[in-house]
Amino acid sequence: MPELPEVETIRRGLEQLLLGREFAGVEVFYHGSLKSPSVEELQQKLPGRRVAGIERRGKYLLLNLHDGTILVIHLRMTGKLVFSRVAASGQKHLHLIFSFADGSCLAFSDIRKFGTIWWLPKECLVELKGISSLGPEPLSADFHFPYLDRELEKRTVNIKALLLNQQFLAGLGNIYVDEILHRACVLPGRSSRSLTRTERLALFAAIRSVLEEAIVKRGTTVSDYRDAAGSAGSFQEELQVYGRRNQPCRRCGQTIERKVVAGRGTHFCPLCQR
Ligand SMILES: [Zn+2]
Repeated sequence: MPELPEVETIRRGLEQLLLGREFAGVEVFYHGSLKSPSVEELQQKLPGRRVAGIERRGKYLLLNLHDGTILVIHLRMTGKLVFSRVAASGQKHLHLIFSFADGSCLAFSDIRKFGTIWWLPKECLVELKGISSLGPEPLSADFHFPYLDRELEKRTVNIKALLLNQQFLAGLGNIYVDEILHRACVLPGRSSRSLTRTERLALFAAIRSVLEEAIVKRGTTVSDYRDAAGSAGSFQEELQVYGRRNQPCRRCGQTIERKVVAGRGTHFCPLCQR
């Protein structure tokens, strides 16, 4: 599933490609991906509106239109947005195509069909529970050490579950949580509250540094993630634990193990993570 670095990479790509473009139409092939409004209303009212800016909140993409409405897109497991200068055709699992006045288009495809799209006035964004309940952005000033420290102290759940909780912190998923915990030298099954001050500081630094490095590498492509121009990321070459079961830890040489923590397949080094 695309996590913060992948969605941020897509956002940056879309910003280059879509800013100022005027919608000409929408074709919807799978109605389940459009949550609101109806297909008919979207087709009737979207044409003529222009893309004014593109933001990201957690794993949500927010396309601000010049009239104060907003297109919200969540790619979930396998959703993909690919821009094309000519009309899109022949793509597999195509659910929806936005076409623009200059003949270019943005295609939304999704093998697993969990990806979702909403179009609504900006002031109604708070009504989308998934967005309004999100915790701070890990790379913003809203996420600071006192917040992390306070939240860890309050929680008895394991640290892996806490980092995956979008209401605690927005944007992390299975891959980056495993990488962050390895960098911070903390075992994923540890109770959040049990982390020492040194470990808490290491965790705070690791959250930021892993995400920043992954954005520089344009995300991780382990299965089918592609950016808005259709290119793969390269952070998979930097992964220390995720997907490396039975391979030697790059830091200490111990064999990387995998077990289920917080309901997710979790990779860790049993020697350098404590
Ligand atoms: Zn190790």
